[in-house]
Amino acid sequence: MSSVNTAIQLSVRGDSSTSTCGTDLAQGPWEFDLDAALQGVPSYGPGASLEDVAPATTPVQGQIPPEYKDASDAELDARIMAAKATLGDKVVILGHFYQRDEVIKYADFVGDSFQLANAAKAKQDAEAIVFCGVHFMAETADMLSTPEQAVILPNLAAGCSMADMADIESVEACWAQLEEVYGDLTATDAEGKVPVIPVTYMNSSAALKGFCGEHGGIVCTSSNAKTVLQWAFQRGRRVLFFPDQHLGRNTAKAMGVPLEQMPMWSPRKPWGGTDEKTLQDARVILWHGFCSVHRRFTVAQIEQARLNHQGVRVIVHPECPMPVVDAADESGSTDYIVKAIQAAPAGSTFAIGTEINLVNRLAAEYPQHTIFCLDPVICPCSTMYRIHPGYLAWVLESLVEGTVQNQISVPESTAVPARVALERMLAARP
Ligand code: SF4
Repeated sequence: MSSVNTAIQLSVRGDSSTSTCGTDLAQGPWEFDLDAALQGVPSYGPGASLEDVAPATTPVQGQIPPEYKDASDAELDARIMAAKATLGDKVVILGHFYQRDEVIKYADFVGDSFQLANAAKAKQDAEAIVFCGVHFMAETADMLSTPEQAVILPNLAAGCSMADMADIESVEACWAQLEEVYGDLTATDAEGKVPVIPVTYMNSSAALKGFCGEHGGIVCTSSNAKTVLQWAFQRGRRVLFFPDQHLGRNTAKAMGVPLEQMPMWSPRKPWGGTDEKTLQDARVILWHGFCSVHRRFTVAQIEQARLNHQGVRVIVHPECPMPVVDAADESGSTDYIVKAIQAAPAGSTFAIGTEINLVNRLAAEYPQHTIFCLDPVICPCSTMYRIHPGYLAWVLESLVEGTVQNQISVPESTAVPARVALERMLAARP
């Protein structure tokens, strides 16, 4: 099976019947870096997050030297391999499941954000960690690696539109309003519970992880969200869950929390767009955030897959909207999806609701199965797609010359409480 990038190029040239959500995806990502720099307005670029508005604080990537933009695929390949060989164990390259194949092929480790953060932690001999993922992942790797190690994000514009939907100022403003409703947020009731526990998804800035660490809260991943919510309910009357409403809702619903006790908090509305009575009755307050990749999946796509493929097993990621999760056979993290496919008997058919790069790679790795993406339109994660082999060649060759480009460094004042929230997550037990 061809890579997502090849499929997009064929689609744009009219050489394939597959459609893509953005013909701009066929261009080099530096075109969007240039637009953002010229207009002073950061953008997520083409792909699933194109319609999302990037906050003004979103990092903008400067132009990389022309030699990296003009090089052929073969030249970039030779340069990356040569730089990797020269650097040897001094560098470790991490590749997220959703990264394009043209970059993944150079990765020493491939996995989800938490697996990669742990891989970074395990490679203490590497002086540089090149993270081919998005900004919050590089921040987590920086917090879990040693102070001597430099974490590098090859394209600074590789953010995450979902993570950007909850910024620290909005979360602090929300917290202050919740204090007006619930009173002292550190006071415990007769059962020893505080009014509200903040829970942030791994897909959030280091500042939000730090907020959780400072306010008795915790981090969760899509693999352990249920365990983390149980941990939070042992300590608090209710949970403030950010930034992904869908993971929060799907997880809490499966735990038996009624939907009417899960109000939405819209950060730009007074009282989050809700009211005091609703907040008093709430069990989980859901931040109005979402992943634009997973929001594309629909119940109609599932119905179509069932019509076209008898016996198809539909697995979707819990970042998908609740009706999609309810209509699927199963929902689970990327790790769950990979393991389900690995364990299935040969000849199984899977319709998968997660990012297209991972789905296509699984289809190529497991030819004994039929595996396809629920969404028929090729629409990768916009920000992950901003990392192109040209950027990887640039950061690696710079390292060979002794220059660290695009270092992601979390200040200790944020990293210390953020590590507390991460440690609580690691210690949480079902
Ligand atoms: S897939 Fe969604 S949550 Fe993941 S990096 Fe892309 S926008 Fe963010």
